[in-house]
Amino acid sequence: MNLPQEFTDYTSRLFGAARWERFVQSFLQETPVSVRINPWKSAENPFPNADPVPWCRQGFWLKERRRFTVDPLFHAGVYYVQEAASLFLDYVLRQVVTAPVSALDLCAAPGGKSTLMRAALPQGSVLVSNEIDRRRANILLENILKQGHPDVLVTHNAPKDFAKTNLLFDVILTDAPCSGEGLFRREPDAVNEWSPQNVHFCAQRQRQILSDIWPCLKDGGLLIYSTCTFNTHENEETVRWITEELGADILSVPVFSDWQITGSLLAHWQQPVYRFIPGTTRSEGLFMAILRKREGENTFSTLPSSLRAQVKKYPLLHVLSDGIPQPEAKGREQIPSAAQALSLSIQQADFPRAELCLEDALRYLHRETLKLPGNTPRGFVLVTYHGHPLGFVKNLGNRANNLYPKPWAIRNL
Ligand code: SAM
Repeated sequence: MNLPQEFTDYTSRLFGAARWERFVQSFLQETPVSVRINPWKSAENPFPNADPVPWCRQGFWLKERRRFTVDPLFHAGVYYVQEAASLFLDYVLRQVVTAPVSALDLCAAPGGKSTLMRAALPQGSVLVSNEIDRRRANILLENILKQGHPDVLVTHNAPKDFAKTNLLFDVILTDAPCSGEGLFRREPDAVNEWSPQNVHFCAQRQRQILSDIWPCLKDGGLLIYSTCTFNTHENEETVRWITEELGADILSVPVFSDWQITGSLLAHWQQPVYRFIPGTTRSEGLFMAILRKREGENTFSTLPSSLRAQVKKYPLLHVLSDGIPQPEAKGREQIPSAAQALSLSIQQADFPRAELCLEDALRYLHRETLKLPGNTPRGFVLVTYHGHPLGFVKNLGNRANNLYPKPWAIRNL
């Protein structure tokens, strides 16, 4: 791996010799593969031999890389493939949020932290999962729907749109677009996009995003700020700017020394922040800080119980899903949606089911026509794999028409 010289000069000084050496060595090692089990879909761990990630209840490192695309349980939302460092959000949320909250994940696609966030927040919490980029918002929507939790709304908006509403959140996660230095091992293309100018541009954009969303955090509310980059301009300096310019205090959570998390790398600014560095932690790169907005007058948030209705009240908020999946009207017929199949509420729904073997489940996910056993009722049938819903077919007897959404289909088997 050829790292840009300016990155090497700056980051080797920032890390110090020993950490830098371990970081460089990590490029010669396999990237660790980790998953997070969806607690509502699977009481059992489908990877019984995997090593638990200590900072996440449902996180596991797998012994080897797998082809997740050809595992129907992945498509059923039973687990999410997620980088181990980002699973630290699970630990942080469980430490600092103890009552139901109205939460916003502002920069959410493809959805790793959003799906984790809803799992880690107390029962009764409602999450708005937002993405500014339309193409990425569709990927976010797919991932949120597959995880199936009804208390997640997906929106497609710019941060400043939220500031035009009266919504007030208890918790806002800003996993900001950044220069991506922590992805160099996993995504070598990120190296080509790196430049000192881009670091500067990202740092400015982060401040703009944070300023835009700040009015939507209630006074006393929590901002979790994260990036997947190492430099202090986008990390410590941004956090310091939040405390000084926006008005917030930094919170700490107790961490274990064997997790090997690195703290502040800004001399003369030793505040509690959390940095994961490949070679030092068993992960890719991550930076996270937890901030509490200073007390003021707006200490009441939009209640979680009314958040869904409040969000839908504002025409400028583009709601892609309000968490309650509906059938799709086609002529006079109501076609059950894939979102309904994958939603947790389907357990109570009144559809006949057909269990598929691995081969048929993959054919289904490839959008092929199936043939179900002769005793399967005609009409809409929920197809399952190991008991987990995958989607619907319309069973005509001699064949079952595939209703799996085209954009979700596996392309190459
Ligand atoms: N949180 C996501 C996850 O864990 O799966 C990853 C988020 S990624 C680091 C940052 C996201 O911010 C991208 O999806 C990107 O489209 C979005 N973004 C880019 N520019 C933005 C802006 N000006 N305001 C808000 N979001 C932006």
